[in-house]
Amino acid sequence: MKKLSAFLIVVLSLMFLSSSSVSADHSWGGYHWARTSNPFTLKLGNNLTGGWVPYLSLASSDWTTSSVLDTTIVSGMGGKSCKATSGRVEVCNRKYGNNGWLGIAQIWVNGSHITQGITKMNDTYFSTSTYNTPAWKQMVMCQEVGHLFGLDHQDEAFDNTNMGTCMDYSNNPSRDDGMGDNLNPNAHDYEQLETIYAQLDSFSTVNQTFAQTMRQVASENGENASEWGRSIKDNGKVAVYERDFGFGNKIFTFVVWTQ
Ligand SMILES: [Zn+2]
Ligand SMILES: [Zn+2]
Repeated sequence: MKKLSAFLIVVLSLMFLSSSSVSADHSWGGYHWARTSNPFTLKLGNNLTGGWVPYLSLASSDWTTSSVLDTTIVSGMGGKSCKATSGRVEVCNRKYGNNGWLGIAQIWVNGSHITQGITKMNDTYFSTSTYNTPAWKQMVMCQEVGHLFGLDHQDEAFDNTNMGTCMDYSNNPSRDDGMGDNLNPNAHDYEQLETIYAQLDSFSTVNQTFAQTMRQVASENGENASEWGRSIKDNGKVAVYERDFGFGNKIFTFVVWTQ
């Protein structure tokens, strides 16, 4: 009995350790793009205006450093509503209004596979003095694109040490606390991508047309929290929502709230 309880204490403390460790694993539920070989190339549709292109360019080249995936910027197909296109990603900006969010990234999944994604930068806030800075724009762009590969945040506290990755939320992304600023991915992000994309699939969702039962959302613009389904986590700075359409079809929405 004594042995058993000692064993249980070890197991429980291990469980606690793994759940409290912020950067050990930051894949988002193992969701990934299906592909038959690495590195695969994901198209990032450029629907950007107003000086946003350099931020996408840097995020694209930063993430392409990964050994398992490449990104290429192509002409946008999203249009004014930033409509998703199967097998690729659309990157958009606009004045989406005073809705509380600075940026969102949305991934459509079927089973464990990502089939399409979009990200939107809200110029209503990015045109204010607080957020109209290269650092804020780069962190949010880099982070949202990271979510589109299936990455979660490394850290979600806004007032602690910057970890040197855009996947770490910060109230001052350009500050270097000794591990670099939070404007680009770090080595741990690339390691996590290698883990997520270690196993190949027998088919591909990249550059493929995939008929999903979530077409009904095409009539919605996806800009309001009421369209995002249930909130899975939310600390007032970053949040993740899940909208479940059944049969393994879901849309996840990653949100960066304004401060
Ligand atoms: Zn797979
Ligand atoms: Zn995020």
